Amino acid sequence: MAFDGIIGHERQKRFLSFLMERGNIPHAFLFCGQEGIGKKQIAMEFTRRLFCQAGTGCGVCRPCVKLDRGSHPDLVVIRNEGSIGIDDSRMIAKEVSEHPFEQDKRVIIIDNAETMTNEAANALLKTLEEPPPYNHFFVITSSEREIPLTIRSRCTRVAFSPLSREQLELYFRDRAGIDPDRAGLLASISFGSIGSGLFWLDEDNFSLRVRMAEALSGRANGFVLASSLAEKASMTDRSASMYLTFLLSFFRDLFVRKITGGTSFITNTDLEDILEGTSGDLPWIENSLKRIQETVRVMRYNVNRWLVFENLLIHVARE
Ligand SMILES: [Zn+2]
Repeated sequence: MAFDGIIGHERQKRFLSFLMERGNIPHAFLFCGQEGIGKKQIAMEFTRRLFCQAGTGCGVCRPCVKLDRGSHPDLVVIRNEGSIGIDDSRMIAKEVSEHPFEQDKRVIIIDNAETMTNEAANALLKTLEEPPPYNHFFVITSSEREIPLTIRSRCTRVAFSPLSREQLELYFRDRAGIDPDRAGLLASISFGSIGSGLFWLDEDNFSLRVRMAEALSGRANGFVLASSLAEKASMTDRSASMYLTFLLSFFRDLFVRKITGGTSFITNTDLEDILEGTSGDLPWIENSLKRIQETVRVMRYNVNRWLVFENLLIHVARE
């Protein structure tokens, strides 16, 4: 079976295998679902099977080796840290107009497709409307509604669900070789996403998370601290989004503790002491949750992430 190396998504993998076995591969897929759950990995694995001389993704034939090295000329991967612009769409249009170099097919993977500018999306639409027959597109996104309907309607949609806590634990323990306690914690705080777990596996990220919890609880305080925590947390879009998700989970834990009077149902199990030691009434918790959600919305716009984050921390931290 293909896709064996990828945890979860059994139904989606069966569907893709079926299409491939039938030789009936749509010219464009839309892969949607949460960040960090394996969408791009599945697109890559699909490409391996498509290009492989044995048809299995054997890992030893010429195309497989080139794909593993990231040097196959018939795989085009678009992934920009900022946004996908008109130049990217033009490059794709030019590329797909030529015959593939080494295969009878070409694969174009557009990751984080929600970051496409309008101009880029319009140009891509033209390409999708009249694609030469040997091209297969994977439009990948964690925010489907930000993809213009005109593009979505040209694609075969495959929706991916978050991984279960058990699947995540399995991944961190058996694949990543992390000790069981830590694997369990990572599975709990990653909300279905391997990518999130790998983010928290990083020591710097993890310790910033703990320091942020201490600042919120009032154990450590001050504007200077809020500012420096905010600066580090908001370094990139990705990290800002990770720490905002953490803040939501932290206040949800406080909420759960308040309601149930215990910590049996909390997510951030390693922060039990801090959660226990945080005084604060329900209105404070509820207001903080609202403020964090509002900040999540604001962050979608082109704002100064550091200032917005700092402002949030100052308002939600205990005095
Ligand atoms: Zn191969």
